[in-house]
Amino acid sequence: MPTTDLGAALAGVRALVLDADGVLLYAGQPLPGAVEALAMLDAAAIPYRVVTNFSLAHRETLAAGVSRQFGRPVSPATIITAASAAAAYTATHHPGEPLLVFASDDAQREWDGQHLVSPAEAEDPATPVAAVVIGDAGDELSFRNMNTAFRRLRSGAAFIAMHRNLWWVTAKGITLDSGAVVAGLEEALERRATITGKPSPVVFREALRELAGDVRAAGGPRLRANEVAMIGDDLESDVAGAHRTGLRGLLVLTGKTDARGLASAQGAGRVRGPAVPDAVGESLLVVVARLVGRGAATDGAVNAIEAGDGPR
Ligand SMILES: [Mg+2]
Repeated sequence: MPTTDLGAALAGVRALVLDADGVLLYAGQPLPGAVEALAMLDAAAIPYRVVTNFSLAHRETLAAGVSRQFGRPVSPATIITAASAAAAYTATHHPGEPLLVFASDDAQREWDGQHLVSPAEAEDPATPVAAVVIGDAGDELSFRNMNTAFRRLRSGAAFIAMHRNLWWVTAKGITLDSGAVVAGLEEALERRATITGKPSPVVFREALRELAGDVRAAGGPRLRANEVAMIGDDLESDVAGAHRTGLRGLLVLTGKTDARGLASAQGAGRVRGPAVPDAVGESLLVVVARLVGRGAATDGAVNAIEAGDGPR
């Protein structure tokens, strides 16, 4: 069985993209070692972006909450959500055009300065709608509102969605996610949405662009995609998404995928192509300690992973 060494997988890495759920947090609580890992990155001046499909809040709200929980300041500028990526996308592709956006009230502030129409306004066929954005709007994703969205999409509005996540874990347990609504609309419309969150290249390219800016501001040489490693707990959203955009993809076992789940997925031949991680680490702290050259991280690394033979 081929093995991938954590140290080898991190050689030459100059910046990180971190998933939030299952890497920094689990069910809303900080994971052990996560705070220490971020402090290590700051001390080593390694730039990072937290890229999350969590999109119920504006980045400022998210950063304030995480700062409180972590007991250290986390800047909103280090966070990219599926909502902020969607707002950046509509600003670029539909500037000044009327948008029907389904997001929480707080996340909708990401669209400040853009032209939004309400679901009630959009029920009137005379109201122009250039694009529909489906995100985490909770009870706003009602049958009535989704019917309005469906009609506008059928009439030719651009179809944008924050992500395809079908479910996630909250303090209340396993919870249906807005990707389930997106899947239903896609079936009814017989066309696919443009996804802005993970695993879409849209959000990874945005992270890469911002990280390259950080490196440039620090006077470093131009940052290449393969010098950036994504660290996540989801083989498809994180690892495969990163690989398809040219980043490295590492898996940690603190979230959706534990050692037993990984072994079982590998055994069933379900870890293939871009979903094959460059390496597997026990936790973010283990990976970051190895990256900055601190600690006997090898003990926590899960080195033996089966390499796939598909394309990256
Ligand atoms: Mg995750």
